[in-house]
Amino acid sequence: MIFAANFKSNHTRKTTKEYMQKLNAYKTEHTVWVFPPATALDEFKGSVRVGVQNAFATHNGAYTGELGLEQLDEFNIKTILIGHSERRLIIGETLGWLQEKFNFYQEQNFNIVFCIGEPLEIREEGVEALKRYLDEQLEGIDLSYKNLTIAYEPIWAIGTGKTASIEEIELTHNYLKTKFNSPLLYGGSVKVDNIKDIAKIKSVDGVLVGSASLDVDNFIQMIEKLK
Ligand code: PEP
Repeated sequence: MIFAANFKSNHTRKTTKEYMQKLNAYKTEHTVWVFPPATALDEFKGSVRVGVQNAFATHNGAYTGELGLEQLDEFNIKTILIGHSERRLIIGETLGWLQEKFNFYQEQNFNIVFCIGEPLEIREEGVEALKRYLDEQLEGIDLSYKNLTIAYEPIWAIGTGKTASIEEIELTHNYLKTKFNSPLLYGGSVKVDNIKDIAKIKSVDGVLVGSASLDVDNFIQMIEKLK
C-alpha cells in the first residue's frame, strides 16, 4: 500500500523536520510519501519520499510566487501532486493548465500523482454523470506514463469527515481501473478508524491523506493498522 500525506498549508520547516525524523525512524513494508509545504522541502535521510504539492511548468523564469524545476532540483525532489481539487477550485487551475504541468513534469521523468474527483452534485446525478466527469478530468493526460499514480478524491469527502462508502469507492475505482494500469489511491477523510476497510478494497492501491496525516503519531498509527 502507498500512504501519501498531504500537509497542504500546514506545518513549518521546523515541525516538518521533526515529523520526517520520526517517520523515517519508523520501519514499514508500505510505501510512504509526504508532501510538505514548499518552505519545508529538503533532502531528508530515509526511505520516505518527499514530493511537492505544486510547481509551475518551467525550469525557472518570471512566475512570481511559483516554483520551477530549478528549485525542486536543489532538494532532489522528483515527485509532484498535480490537479488537487483545492488547486482546481480555489486557485482556479484549468484542465489546460494541468495538462501543461503534466507534460512538463512527465518530460522530466517525475513521479506524478494526478488527482481527480467529483463534486457532490455530479455524484448525485448518478453513475453515468460521474463517469463522464472523471473522463473529462483525465482528458489529455497520458495514462500510459510509467511514473503515474492517480488519486481519486471525491471533493465532498475531502476535509469534511465524510468518507465515500466502500461501495462508492469500489464502483469508482473499478471503473477507473479499466482506463489505466497505474496505482490508484483513494483520498477523502481517510483516518485510523476506516483505513482497514478502505485498504481491503482490491482496486485501492493506497491512500492520500490530509487531516489525519498532520500528526505523525496518528499517521503511523494508520500505517500500523495494516501490519
Ligand atoms: C486531501 O486533501 O488530499 C485529503 C484527502 O484531505 P482529507 O484527508 O483531510 O480529507
